[in-house]
Amino acid sequence: MANKSCIIRLSRYRNALMRLKALNFVKVFSENLADAARVTAAQVRKDFSLFGISGNRRGGYLVEELLEQINRVLGKDKLQKFIVVGVGNIGRALLNYPGFKKNEIELVAGFDIDASKHNREAEVPIFLLEELNDFVKDNGIKFGIISVPDFAAQQILELMIQTGIRGILNFAPICLKEPEDCVIRNLNFETELENIIYFTNVTEKTEVR
Ligand code: NAD
Repeated sequence: MANKSCIIRLSRYRNALMRLKALNFVKVFSENLADAARVTAAQVRKDFSLFGISGNRRGGYLVEELLEQINRVLGKDKLQKFIVVGVGNIGRALLNYPGFKKNEIELVAGFDIDASKHNREAEVPIFLLEELNDFVKDNGIKFGIISVPDFAAQQILELMIQTGIRGILNFAPICLKEPEDCVIRNLNFETELENIIYFTNVTEKTEVR
């Protein structure tokens, strides 16, 4: 099975292919994609062979065909629906972002415990938390985003799993544990920033020496 890094590389190849397609390129070589994803051409071919994506080393790959194959692997050949629980700063920003849809991702509804946030008439409606279960079941939703405060995140995770959601992106700064049949990605902004601060400082110190 492919690991997380491999799937991240596939997304990068896909982004590069989308740019090439917009520029009317018909063919692409593994070297071009390698440059875009900052890997070697051999790595690109290895990633593709893992998914049975075929191409011709000399003749290159057809951009359109390659995009279709990668989209199928990434589940982007059809629209994937997400719901968001916690419509504060982050939840609202995500719901308002128009760019997901062109990548076959649609945030279809928000849920919040705060009544002042509810708006059934909005383009992306915001519902009561109590409505989550029925909404997820009625609409066959598999994916959710947690953007509630840290103290509420575990409870929301359990609720989401009960409803049938199986893939979750968590913005709350606690590391939620992944149950066996679920996929959870914990995205902790502070950890990322601390990481940048640390490595920037280390690089500066090394340069001074
Ligand atoms: P926020 O306070 O603006 O919004 C949180 C929302 O969650 C509110 O609308 C609140 O009513 C709702 N909520 C609280 N408990 C709930 C529950 N049990 N069920 C449903 N909704 C509930 O917070 P934010 O700034 O959007 O941040 C969201 C999460 O992301 C937090 O855990 C925060 O620590 C983390 N985070 C935010 C930022 C940022 O830049 N905003 C940065 C790093 C981390």
